[in-house]
Amino acid sequence: MLYHRDAYRRRFQSQVGGLRTWQGSLWVWLLDTAFYPTGGGQPCDLGTLEIAGRAFSVTEVTKDGQVWHRLEGPAAGEVAVGDPAVGELDWPRRLRHMQRHSAQHLLAQAFSRVDRAFSVLAINLSQPRCTMDLAGHPDPAAIQAASALLHAQLYRDLPITSFEVEESELDRFPLRRPPQVQGRVRLVAVADPEDPSGFWDVSACGGTHLSSAAQAIPVTVLRGEAVRKGGTRVYFLAGEEARCYLEEGRVRLQALAARFSCRDEEVPERVLGLAEQLADQQAELRRLRLREAGLRLASVQSHPLPGAALRYLSLRPEEEDLLDALATLAADLPPALTVVSAGSQLLVASSCAISARALLAALLADLGGKGGGSDRLARGSADLASLRALSAERLAALAVP
Ligand SMILES: [Zn+2]
Repeated sequence: MLYHRDAYRRRFQSQVGGLRTWQGSLWVWLLDTAFYPTGGGQPCDLGTLEIAGRAFSVTEVTKDGQVWHRLEGPAAGEVAVGDPAVGELDWPRRLRHMQRHSAQHLLAQAFSRVDRAFSVLAINLSQPRCTMDLAGHPDPAAIQAASALLHAQLYRDLPITSFEVEESELDRFPLRRPPQVQGRVRLVAVADPEDPSGFWDVSACGGTHLSSAAQAIPVTVLRGEAVRKGGTRVYFLAGEEARCYLEEGRVRLQALAARFSCRDEEVPERVLGLAEQLADQQAELRRLRLREAGLRLASVQSHPLPGAALRYLSLRPEEEDLLDALATLAADLPPALTVVSAGSQLLVASSCAISARALLAALLADLGGKGGGSDRLARGSADLASLRALSAERLAALAVP
């Protein structure tokens, strides 16, 4: 097909070879086509097909015996077998796919030259953030080495070609991995006169590729992460998508630098400094809240219960932040039952034989509301108006019926 013979053809003329209606759309196959069908990890091309003088969007291309183009919009009878067709690819999309795919071949070879064990298990080129699953576990140093080796080759701008050979001829080529097809095999080769084999990389592939390596520049290898079923997933971006990623990163970094009135390279230090400052201030805030909670508990009158003392503290809604500190302190009081309300929030803490959860449940049954917890600590919320009527006497009656 044309997409294999000339990966750079954006516009072509052909003829409708057949039609079918499937998934609510009209699909056509053409006598020849430059539209690449989804396959081999590479997404399909999109674009337009002008058939008998009317233009239709091509919204999907698949291969099933023939290469089928899904058309948007034609009415029944508007397209017929034998109609002349002019196709035009969404070229920026195709170019991005060729950059992803060519970079994937070259990066795979770079990894295998860093360590033969890093062979490719699977690839996914359907998103700008492409993935390549490798056997083994390349560490950050190995990833950096593969990226450096890859770019050294990209700068040489080695030519990339594709051709078909008989299966019996395959042993003439240093294949990176055995082909998954039989019979005639399509090879994609990066020739390298300095390599003893004459090639930098050769692999069997049915996708579309750049005509030379440097067109994939830059290639950004983002990171590697362990895959559950074994091996390492390497994330990378190629060509225009990598450039956009780096550009967006630069814009974000410079916006942060402007916000902190520092230079780009000083941003990490500033952010870490602020994170440390924040941690210190949060620790200080916790200390102050504990002190405030201690003063509040000491100031409230306690009511005697059998074997314990009951304290009831009614806080203002804006003092809700003190509840955690009060819960911490109340847990360590000598045998006591502590009940705190703040706005609609309720806290029951027990350091005696009476269950905090049971008391909260009795209280909520009385007031209406929801909550739960353990025998030591329970929290809930109740209607604000009914909480205002709460008193230590009423709590004592509920705690010891
Ligand atoms: Zn390929």
